[in-house]
Amino acid sequence: MAKIIAINAGSSSLKFKLFEMEGEKVLAQGLFDRIGISNGTIKIKYGEKEYRKEAELKDHAVAVKRLLQLLLKLGIVQDFAEIVGVGHRVVAGGEYFKKSVAVNSRIIRRINELTEYAPIHNPANLMGIEAFRKILPNAVSVAVFDTSFHQTMPKENYVYSVPYEWYHKYGARRYGAHGTSHRYVVQVAAHMMEKPLKQLKLISCHLGAGASLCAVKNGKSFDTSMGFTPLTGITMATRSGDVDVSLISFMMQKLDMHSMPEVIYDLNKKSGLLGISGISSDMRDIEAKCKTDERAQLAIDIFVKDVVKYVGAYMAEMGGLDGIIFTAGIGENSGYIREKIMKRLEFLGIEVDEKANAKRGVAEFISTPTSRVAALMIPTNEELMIARDVKTIIEAKIEKEKLAPVVIKSHSN
Ligand code: ADP
Repeated sequence: MAKIIAINAGSSSLKFKLFEMEGEKVLAQGLFDRIGISNGTIKIKYGEKEYRKEAELKDHAVAVKRLLQLLLKLGIVQDFAEIVGVGHRVVAGGEYFKKSVAVNSRIIRRINELTEYAPIHNPANLMGIEAFRKILPNAVSVAVFDTSFHQTMPKENYVYSVPYEWYHKYGARRYGAHGTSHRYVVQVAAHMMEKPLKQLKLISCHLGAGASLCAVKNGKSFDTSMGFTPLTGITMATRSGDVDVSLISFMMQKLDMHSMPEVIYDLNKKSGLLGISGISSDMRDIEAKCKTDERAQLAIDIFVKDVVKYVGAYMAEMGGLDGIIFTAGIGENSGYIREKIMKRLEFLGIEVDEKANAKRGVAEFISTPTSRVAALMIPTNEELMIARDVKTIIEAKIEKEKLAPVVIKSHSN
Protein backbone atom coordinates (compact mmCIF):
# COMPACT_ATOMS: atom_id res chain seq x y z
CA MET A 1 0.00 0.00 0.00
CA ALA A 2 1.32 3.45 -0.95
CA LYS A 3 2.56 5.57 1.94
CA ILE A 4 3.49 9.20 2.47
CA ILE A 5 5.80 10.52 5.14
CA ALA A 6 5.55 14.07 6.53
CA ILE A 7 8.80 15.52 7.87
CA ASN A 8 9.48 18.45 10.16
CA ALA A 9 13.24 18.88 10.43
CA GLY A 10 14.55 21.35 13.01
CA SER A 11 18.16 22.32 13.63
CA SER A 12 18.71 19.39 16.01
CA SER A 13 15.55 17.32 15.62
CA LEU A 14 13.45 15.49 13.07
CA LYS A 15 9.77 14.76 13.60
CA PHE A 16 7.87 12.47 11.26
CA LYS A 17 4.42 11.02 10.64
CA LEU A 18 3.87 8.15 8.22
CA PHE A 19 0.46 7.91 6.54
CA GLU A 20 -1.19 5.28 4.44
CA MET A 21 -2.24 7.25 1.36
CA GLU A 22 -5.70 5.69 1.13
CA GLY A 23 -7.77 6.57 4.18
CA GLU A 24 -5.10 8.87 5.68
CA LYS A 25 -4.36 6.39 8.47
CA VAL A 26 -1.36 7.22 10.68
CA LEU A 27 0.92 4.17 10.68
CA ALA A 28 3.74 5.60 12.76
CA GLN A 29 5.02 8.84 14.19
CA GLY A 30 8.06 9.87 16.11
CA LEU A 31 10.92 12.12 16.99
CA PHE A 32 14.67 11.93 16.48
CA ASP A 33 16.12 14.40 18.95
CA ARG A 34 19.54 15.88 19.73
CA ILE A 35 20.84 15.37 16.19
CA GLY A 36 24.43 16.60 15.96
CA ILE A 37 24.61 16.76 19.76
CA SER A 38 25.61 13.87 22.06
CA ASN A 39 22.99 11.61 23.74
CA GLY A 40 20.55 11.55 20.85
CA THR A 41 17.16 9.90 21.35
CA ILE A 42 14.74 8.05 19.10
CA LYS A 43 11.03 7.67 19.83
CA ILE A 44 8.64 5.93 17.48
CA LYS A 45 4.97 5.18 18.15
CA TYR A 46 3.33 2.66 15.88
CA GLY A 47 -0.12 1.24 16.55
CA GLU A 48 -0.24 0.53 20.28
CA LYS A 49 3.50 0.00 20.47
CA GLU A 50 6.39 2.31 21.22
CA TYR A 51 10.09 2.10 20.38
CA ARG A 52 12.58 4.16 22.42
CA LYS A 53 16.33 4.18 22.15
CA GLU A 54 19.34 6.34 22.80
CA ALA A 55 21.58 6.74 19.78
CA GLU A 56 24.39 8.88 18.45
CA LEU A 57 22.81 10.84 15.60
CA LYS A 58 25.76 12.53 13.91
CA ASP A 59 23.68 14.47 11.42
CA HIS A 60 20.30 14.49 9.65
CA ALA A 61 21.45 11.94 7.07
CA VAL A 62 22.23 9.46 9.86
CA ALA A 63 18.85 10.14 11.50
CA VAL A 64 17.00 9.56 8.21
CA LYS A 65 18.92 6.34 7.57
CA ARG A 66 18.07 5.09 11.08
CA LEU A 67 14.44 6.05 10.64
CA LEU A 68 14.07 4.12 7.41
CA GLN A 69 15.93 1.08 8.79
CA LEU A 70 13.62 1.10 11.81
CA LEU A 71 10.48 1.34 9.67
CA LEU A 72 11.59 -1.91 8.02
CA LYS A 73 12.83 -3.58 11.20
CA LEU A 74 9.65 -2.81 13.15
CA GLY A 75 7.57 -4.15 10.25
CA ILE A 76 5.88 -0.79 9.61
CA VAL A 77 6.88 -0.97 5.92
CA GLN A 78 7.93 -4.07 4.02
CA ASP A 79 9.84 -2.28 1.26
CA PHE A 80 11.09 1.32 0.81
CA ALA A 81 9.28 1.43 -2.54
CA GLU A 82 6.01 1.65 -0.55
CA ILE A 83 6.97 5.22 0.44
CA VAL A 84 5.89 7.09 -2.67
CA GLY A 85 6.09 10.62 -1.33
CA VAL A 86 7.95 12.67 1.28
CA GLY A 87 6.55 16.05 2.37
CA HIS A 88 8.86 18.52 4.10
CA ARG A 89 7.86 21.48 6.20
CA VAL A 90 9.88 24.52 5.13
CA VAL A 91 9.70 27.64 7.26
CA ALA A 92 10.43 30.49 4.82
CA GLY A 93 9.13 30.50 1.26
CA GLY A 94 9.37 34.26 0.78
CA GLU A 95 7.28 35.70 -2.05
CA TYR A 96 8.47 33.01 -4.41
CA PHE A 97 6.60 29.98 -3.08
CA LYS A 98 2.87 30.61 -3.14
CA LYS A 99 2.02 26.93 -2.74
CA SER A 100 3.61 23.55 -2.10
CA VAL A 101 5.97 22.31 -4.81
CA ALA A 102 7.75 19.15 -5.95
CA VAL A 103 11.43 19.48 -5.07
CA ASN A 104 14.20 19.44 -7.67
CA SER A 105 17.68 20.98 -7.62
CA ARG A 106 16.33 24.38 -8.76
CA ILE A 107 13.85 24.41 -5.86
CA ILE A 108 16.62 23.45 -3.43
CA ARG A 109 18.67 26.43 -4.67
CA ARG A 110 15.68 28.74 -4.15
CA ILE A 111 15.05 27.50 -0.60
CA ASN A 112 18.73 28.04 0.10
CA GLU A 113 18.53 31.60 -1.23
CA LEU A 114 15.67 32.28 1.19
CA THR A 115 17.85 31.32 4.16
CA GLU A 116 18.34 34.98 5.07
CA TYR A 117 14.65 35.06 6.04
CA ALA A 118 14.97 32.01 8.35
CA PRO A 119 18.68 31.53 9.12
CA ILE A 120 18.20 28.61 11.52
CA HIS A 121 15.18 26.86 10.02
CA ASN A 122 15.64 26.78 6.24
CA PRO A 123 19.08 25.11 6.40
CA ALA A 124 17.67 22.49 8.80
CA ASN A 125 14.69 21.88 6.50
CA LEU A 126 17.10 21.48 3.58
CA MET A 127 19.16 18.91 5.48
CA GLY A 128 16.00 16.83 5.84
CA ILE A 129 15.17 17.22 2.13
CA GLU A 130 18.67 16.26 0.97
CA ALA A 131 18.89 13.26 3.30
CA PHE A 132 15.60 11.77 2.03
CA ARG A 133 16.38 12.49 -1.62
CA LYS A 134 19.58 10.52 -1.27
CA ILE A 135 18.05 7.48 0.39
CA LEU A 136 14.65 7.47 -1.37
CA PRO A 137 15.50 8.87 -4.83
CA ASN A 138 12.31 7.51 -6.39
CA ALA A 139 9.87 9.03 -3.91
CA VAL A 140 8.29 12.37 -4.87
CA SER A 141 9.76 15.01 -2.59
CA VAL A 142 7.53 17.99 -1.78
CA ALA A 143 8.23 21.25 0.06
CA VAL A 144 5.33 22.72 2.07
CA PHE A 145 5.94 26.28 3.25
CA ASP A 146 4.72 27.91 6.49
CA THR A 147 4.44 31.19 4.64
CA SER A 148 2.63 30.19 1.40
CA PHE A 149 -0.89 30.39 2.80
CA HIS A 150 -0.34 34.06 3.63
CA GLN A 151 0.72 34.98 0.11
CA THR A 152 -2.90 35.92 -0.62
CA MET A 153 -2.86 38.86 1.82
CA PRO A 154 -3.69 42.21 0.23
CA LYS A 155 -0.73 44.56 -0.06
CA GLU A 156 -2.05 46.91 2.61
CA ASN A 157 -1.76 44.04 5.09
CA TYR A 158 1.80 43.00 4.34
CA VAL A 159 3.68 46.18 3.40
CA TYR A 160 5.16 47.84 6.48
CA SER A 161 4.94 51.54 6.96
CA VAL A 162 8.67 52.05 6.35
CA PRO A 163 10.61 53.37 3.33
CA TYR A 164 9.09 51.47 0.42
CA GLU A 165 12.54 50.45 -0.90
CA TRP A 166 12.99 48.27 2.17
CA TYR A 167 10.25 46.08 0.78
CA HIS A 168 10.92 46.62 -2.88
CA LYS A 169 14.68 46.04 -2.78
CA TYR A 170 15.13 43.73 0.19
CA GLY A 171 11.83 41.94 0.69
CA ALA A 172 11.25 43.47 4.14
CA ARG A 173 7.53 42.77 4.65
CA ARG A 174 5.09 40.68 6.67
CA TYR A 175 5.30 37.00 5.68
CA GLY A 176 3.46 35.38 8.60
CA ALA A 177 3.85 31.79 9.78
CA HIS A 178 1.79 28.76 10.92
CA GLY A 179 0.21 28.83 7.44
CA THR A 180 -0.21 25.05 7.21
CA SER A 181 -2.03 24.96 10.55
CA HIS A 182 -4.32 27.89 9.75
CA ARG A 183 -5.09 26.39 6.32
CA TYR A 184 -5.99 23.04 7.89
CA VAL A 185 -8.26 24.28 10.70
CA VAL A 186 -10.29 26.63 8.51
CA GLN A 187 -11.05 23.73 6.16
CA VAL A 188 -12.26 21.63 9.09
CA ALA A 189 -14.25 24.59 10.45
CA ALA A 190 -16.08 25.12 7.14
CA HIS A 191 -16.90 21.41 7.05
CA MET A 192 -18.26 21.56 10.62
CA MET A 193 -20.22 24.74 9.89
CA GLU A 194 -21.62 23.09 6.73
CA LYS A 195 -20.81 26.14 4.62
CA PRO A 196 -18.39 26.64 1.72
CA LEU A 197 -15.11 28.07 3.03
CA LYS A 198 -15.31 30.66 0.25
CA GLN A 199 -18.35 32.22 1.93
CA LEU A 200 -16.94 32.50 5.44
CA LYS A 201 -15.09 35.10 7.48
CA LEU A 202 -13.04 33.22 10.07
CA ILE A 203 -10.32 33.96 12.59
CA SER A 204 -7.96 31.10 13.35
CA CYS A 205 -6.15 31.38 16.71
CA HIS A 206 -3.11 29.08 16.73
CA LEU A 207 -2.20 29.28 20.42
CA GLY A 208 0.83 27.10 21.10
CA ALA A 209 4.30 27.94 22.38
CA GLY A 210 4.48 30.03 19.23
CA ALA A 211 1.14 31.74 18.66
CA SER A 212 -0.47 33.61 15.81
CA LEU A 213 -3.89 34.71 14.65
CA CYS A 214 -5.00 34.65 11.04
CA ALA A 215 -7.98 36.39 9.50
CA VAL A 216 -9.28 34.13 6.72
CA LYS A 217 -11.72 35.81 4.35
CA ASN A 218 -13.42 33.69 1.69
CA GLY A 219 -10.91 30.89 2.21
CA LYS A 220 -7.82 33.07 1.83
CA SER A 221 -5.41 34.45 4.38
CA PHE A 222 -6.33 38.11 4.69
CA ASP A 223 -4.13 39.21 7.58
CA THR A 224 -1.95 37.55 10.18
CA SER A 225 -0.26 38.58 13.40
CA MET A 226 3.26 37.27 12.81
CA GLY A 227 5.40 39.49 10.65
CA PHE A 228 8.77 39.44 8.91
CA THR A 229 9.70 36.87 11.55
CA PRO A 230 7.58 34.97 14.09
CA LEU A 231 8.49 37.50 16.81
CA THR A 232 5.55 39.84 16.42
CA GLY A 233 1.82 39.67 17.13
CA ILE A 234 0.43 38.36 20.41
CA THR A 235 2.51 37.50 23.46
CA MET A 236 3.84 33.91 23.26
CA ALA A 237 5.62 31.38 25.46
CA THR A 238 8.95 33.22 25.33
CA ARG A 239 8.47 35.73 22.49
CA SER A 240 7.41 39.28 23.18
CA GLY A 241 4.90 39.79 20.39
CA ASP A 242 4.49 43.44 19.33
CA VAL A 243 6.84 45.93 20.99
CA ASP A 244 8.11 49.37 20.05
CA VAL A 245 11.41 48.66 18.26
CA SER A 246 12.98 51.71 19.91
CA LEU A 247 13.19 49.51 23.00
CA ILE A 248 16.07 47.72 21.32
CA SER A 249 18.56 50.58 21.40
CA PHE A 250 17.24 51.78 24.79
CA MET A 251 17.71 48.35 26.40
CA MET A 252 21.08 47.87 24.73
CA GLN A 253 22.31 50.88 26.69
CA LYS A 254 20.58 49.97 29.94
CA LEU A 255 21.79 46.36 29.94
CA ASP A 256 25.19 47.25 28.56
CA MET A 257 24.72 44.92 25.65
CA HIS A 258 27.06 45.21 22.68
CA SER A 259 24.86 44.22 19.80
CA MET A 260 21.24 44.30 18.71
CA PRO A 261 20.99 40.50 18.34
CA GLU A 262 21.55 40.23 22.11
CA VAL A 263 18.40 42.26 22.79
CA ILE A 264 16.50 40.47 20.02
CA TYR A 265 17.55 37.18 21.64
CA ASP A 266 15.89 38.33 24.88
CA LEU A 267 12.77 39.32 22.94
CA ASN A 268 12.66 35.80 21.45
CA LYS A 269 13.74 33.68 24.40
CA LYS A 270 13.17 35.55 27.66
CA SER A 271 9.97 37.46 27.02
CA GLY A 272 6.30 36.49 26.61
CA LEU A 273 4.65 34.40 29.32
CA LEU A 274 8.07 33.55 30.78
CA GLY A 275 9.24 37.14 30.89
CA ILE A 276 6.06 38.56 32.39
CA SER A 277 5.46 35.81 34.96
CA GLY A 278 9.07 35.00 35.85
CA ILE A 279 7.72 31.49 36.50
CA SER A 280 7.49 29.50 33.29
CA SER A 281 6.86 29.68 29.59
CA ASP A 282 4.25 26.93 29.91
CA MET A 283 0.63 28.03 30.26
CA ARG A 284 -0.10 25.03 32.52
CA ASP A 285 2.37 26.27 35.15
CA ILE A 286 1.04 29.80 34.87
CA GLU A 287 -2.59 28.70 35.24
CA ALA A 288 -1.60 26.70 38.32
CA LYS A 289 -0.06 29.79 39.97
CA CYS A 290 -2.37 32.57 38.81
CA LYS A 291 -4.62 32.60 41.90
CA THR A 292 -1.70 33.32 44.20
CA ASP A 293 0.83 35.06 42.00
CA GLU A 294 0.19 38.52 40.64
CA ARG A 295 2.62 38.24 37.74
CA ALA A 296 1.22 34.85 36.66
CA GLN A 297 -2.21 36.52 36.59
CA LEU A 298 -0.78 39.44 34.62
CA ALA A 299 0.74 37.03 32.04
CA ILE A 300 -2.70 35.46 31.50
CA ASP A 301 -4.40 38.87 31.34
CA ILE A 302 -1.95 40.11 28.69
CA PHE A 303 -2.25 36.89 26.66
CA VAL A 304 -6.06 37.03 26.70
CA LYS A 305 -6.11 40.77 25.94
CA ASP A 306 -3.77 40.30 22.97
CA VAL A 307 -6.02 37.65 21.42
CA VAL A 308 -9.14 39.77 22.02
CA LYS A 309 -7.44 42.85 20.52
CA TYR A 310 -6.46 41.03 17.33
CA VAL A 311 -9.90 39.40 16.99
CA GLY A 312 -11.50 42.86 17.20
CA ALA A 313 -9.09 44.29 14.65
CA TYR A 314 -9.51 41.40 12.21
CA MET A 315 -13.29 41.42 12.48
CA ALA A 316 -13.25 45.13 11.63
CA GLU A 317 -10.79 44.58 8.74
CA MET A 318 -12.87 41.76 7.27
CA GLY A 319 -16.16 43.61 7.84
CA GLY A 320 -17.69 40.79 9.87
CA LEU A 321 -17.07 37.43 11.46
CA ASP A 322 -18.72 34.01 11.19
CA GLY A 323 -16.45 31.94 13.39
CA ILE A 324 -13.40 31.88 15.61
CA ILE A 325 -11.22 28.77 15.89
CA PHE A 326 -8.95 27.74 18.76
CA THR A 327 -6.09 25.37 18.00
CA ALA A 328 -2.56 24.21 19.09
CA GLY A 329 -1.37 23.44 22.66
CA ILE A 330 -3.23 26.16 24.56
CA GLY A 331 -6.10 26.48 22.09
CA GLU A 332 -6.84 22.74 22.13
CA ASN A 333 -6.27 22.06 25.82
CA SER A 334 -7.05 25.07 27.96
CA GLY A 335 -10.78 25.54 28.47
CA TYR A 336 -9.84 28.14 31.06
CA ILE A 337 -8.05 30.43 28.57
CA ARG A 338 -10.62 29.81 25.81
CA GLU A 339 -13.45 30.77 28.15
CA LYS A 340 -11.68 33.94 29.29
CA ILE A 341 -11.22 34.99 25.65
CA MET A 342 -14.78 34.09 24.64
CA LYS A 343 -16.34 35.88 27.65
CA ARG A 344 -14.61 39.09 26.58
CA LEU A 345 -16.00 38.57 23.07
CA GLU A 346 -19.61 38.13 24.24
CA PHE A 347 -20.39 41.58 22.84
CA LEU A 348 -19.76 40.15 19.35
CA GLY A 349 -22.45 37.59 19.90
CA ILE A 350 -20.34 34.66 21.09
CA GLU A 351 -22.18 32.51 23.64
CA VAL A 352 -20.01 29.91 25.36
CA ASP A 353 -21.21 26.32 25.61
CA GLU A 354 -19.56 25.57 28.95
CA LYS A 355 -20.01 21.81 28.78
CA ALA A 356 -18.42 21.57 25.34
CA ASN A 357 -15.66 23.97 26.34
CA ALA A 358 -14.71 21.72 29.26
CA LYS A 359 -13.52 19.11 26.74
CA ARG A 360 -10.07 19.11 25.18
CA GLY A 361 -8.32 17.94 22.07
CA VAL A 362 -11.45 17.17 20.03
CA ALA A 363 -13.05 19.00 17.12
CA GLU A 364 -16.14 20.54 18.66
CA PHE A 365 -18.35 23.64 18.66
CA ILE A 366 -17.72 25.40 21.96
CA SER A 367 -20.40 28.03 21.37
CA THR A 368 -24.14 27.47 21.74
CA PRO A 369 -26.28 26.85 18.62
CA THR A 370 -27.78 30.35 19.02
CA SER A 371 -24.39 32.05 19.18
CA ARG A 372 -24.23 34.73 16.45
CA VAL A 373 -20.53 34.02 15.92
CA ALA A 374 -19.51 30.35 16.15
CA ALA A 375 -16.57 29.30 18.31
CA LEU A 376 -14.80 26.03 17.54
CA MET A 377 -11.97 24.06 19.05
CA ILE A 378 -10.12 22.10 16.34
CA PRO A 379 -6.96 20.03 16.92
CA THR A 380 -4.47 21.09 14.28
CA ASN A 381 -2.81 18.53 12.03
CA GLU A 382 -0.02 20.10 10.01
CA GLU A 383 1.43 16.70 9.08
CA LEU A 384 -1.85 15.57 7.53
CA MET A 385 -2.02 18.80 5.54
CA ILE A 386 1.55 18.15 4.33
CA ALA A 387 0.68 14.56 3.35
CA ARG A 388 -2.41 15.79 1.48
CA ASP A 389 -0.30 18.27 -0.50
CA VAL A 390 2.11 15.45 -1.40
CA LYS A 391 -0.81 13.29 -2.52
CA THR A 392 -2.22 16.11 -4.68
CA ILE A 393 1.16 16.66 -6.35
CA ILE A 394 1.67 12.93 -6.98
CA GLU A 395 -1.81 12.63 -8.51
CA ALA A 396 -1.20 15.67 -10.75
CA LYS A 397 2.11 14.14 -11.87
CA ILE A 398 0.44 10.83 -12.74
CA GLU A 399 -2.26 12.70 -14.67
CA LYS A 400 0.34 14.74 -16.57
CA GLU A 401 2.31 11.64 -17.47
CA LYS A 402 -0.89 10.02 -18.78
CA LEU A 403 -1.57 13.03 -21.00
CA ALA A 404 2.01 13.43 -22.22
CA PRO A 405 2.31 12.63 -25.93
CA VAL A 406 4.06 9.37 -26.66
CA VAL A 407 7.35 10.05 -28.44
CA ILE A 408 7.98 7.52 -31.21
CA LYS A 409 11.68 7.19 -31.83
CA SER A 410 12.86 7.04 -35.36
CA HIS A 411 15.14 4.14 -36.28
CA SER A 412 15.86 5.37 -39.78
CA ASN A 413 19.60 5.38 -39.38
P1 ADP B 1 4.55 24.36 19.62
O1 ADP B 1 4.43 25.81 19.24
O2 ADP B 1 5.87 24.02 20.23
O3 ADP B 1 4.08 23.41 18.55
P2 ADP B 1 2.24 23.41 21.07
O4 ADP B 1 1.19 23.75 20.10
O5 ADP B 1 2.57 21.99 21.28
O6 ADP B 1 3.56 24.24 20.83
O7 ADP B 1 1.82 24.06 22.47
C1 ADP B 1 2.61 23.89 23.60
C2 ADP B 1 2.04 24.74 24.72
O8 ADP B 1 0.67 24.41 24.94
C3 ADP B 1 2.71 24.47 26.06
O9 ADP B 1 3.88 25.23 26.20
C4 ADP B 1 1.63 24.91 27.02
O10 ADP B 1 1.79 26.29 27.27
C5 ADP B 1 0.35 24.72 26.27
N1 ADP B 1 -0.50 23.64 26.85
C6 ADP B 1 -0.46 22.32 26.58
N2 ADP B 1 -1.39 21.66 27.31
C7 ADP B 1 -2.03 22.58 28.06
C8 ADP B 1 -3.08 22.55 29.01
N3 ADP B 1 -3.69 21.42 29.37
N4 ADP B 1 -3.44 23.72 29.58
C9 ADP B 1 -2.86 24.89 29.23
N5 ADP B 1 -1.87 24.99 28.33
C10 ADP B 1 -1.46 23.85 27.75
